[in-house]
Amino acid sequence: MRLILLGPPGAGKGTQAQRLVNKHGIIQLSTGDMLRAAVAAQTPIGLQAKDIMASGALVPDEIVIGIISDRLDQPDMKNGFILDGFPRTVPQAAALDELLKKKHIKLDAVVELRVNESALLSRVETRVAEMRARGQEVRIDDTPEVLSKRLASYRTSTEPLIHYYSERRKLLTVDGMMTIEEVTREITRILAALSAPKPKAATPARKAKAAARKTAKPAAKKAAKSTKKASKAAPKAGKAASKKAKGRAGKAAAAGRGKTAGKVKKGAKKAASKTVRKAAKKGTKKRAKR
Ligand code: AMP
Repeated sequence: MRLILLGPPGAGKGTQAQRLVNKHGIIQLSTGDMLRAAVAAQTPIGLQAKDIMASGALVPDEIVIGIISDRLDQPDMKNGFILDGFPRTVPQAAALDELLKKKHIKLDAVVELRVNESALLSRVETRVAEMRARGQEVRIDDTPEVLSKRLASYRTSTEPLIHYYSERRKLLTVDGMMTIEEVTREITRILAALSAPKPKAATPARKAKAAARKTAKPAAKKAAKSTKKASKAAPKAGKAASKKAKGRAGKAAAAGRGKTAGKVKKGAKKAASKTVRKAAKKGTKKRAKR
């Protein structure tokens, strides 16, 4: 699993990264931790970064890109990693794309922890109190003044990465306002969904095959139906034939009846003309008497 955790300071990236490390046995790469170690060891990078970090500003891109590039080359990276706090700017994200491409490493997802800005100050205050209680040295940039500067730098430099990774279809957003346990559960759930086998993409060849299967089925059904129909239709055809014959006979009979009617009509005409003729004769006789 190769992930990036994205979110403002106090969103819980470090806490969640640690939990994912324990669960998946992968390495957490926190540029903040590496820089703090460099500051403590007073390396040239540490000396360069010390004051910048104390002010809440961002260390130059080339420094952090160099640190990450070296770290990705180490053998323990093979099982996967979680980048926490890197990339923090679009040029860092573009440089990371290049590095991963060169090293033939595929990034699985970018998990954004979305939080309410108003909750961040109290979260950082809690973190400071807990560190003090454990007897740990408190970070010099965990003060309300420096936090507001770090938040401003998140908004202007890091937030554009949400768009950057969403355009590349890598972004998964999780509600970072839930409890630590719930956030871990949600991240685990979406990561499991991500690694679940996906339905195969519809290539033109696959589409054609599916279409052929679809048309083949109805055709076979049609053929079976027409055979059934044919066998059912056979006795019907016999019946229809005899009906037709009967019909024809009936028609013929009706025609016969018609002929008789015609004869009756003719007879009636003859009778009528006879009466007319008789009446005409009578009329001539009467006129002659007068
Ligand atoms: P963090 O522990 O991630 O909050 O980082 C602490 C400080 O280290 C930041 O405020 C920056 O000054 C510096 N830093 C960590 N990561 C980066 C980075 N990717 N780019 C620039 N500066 C960084």
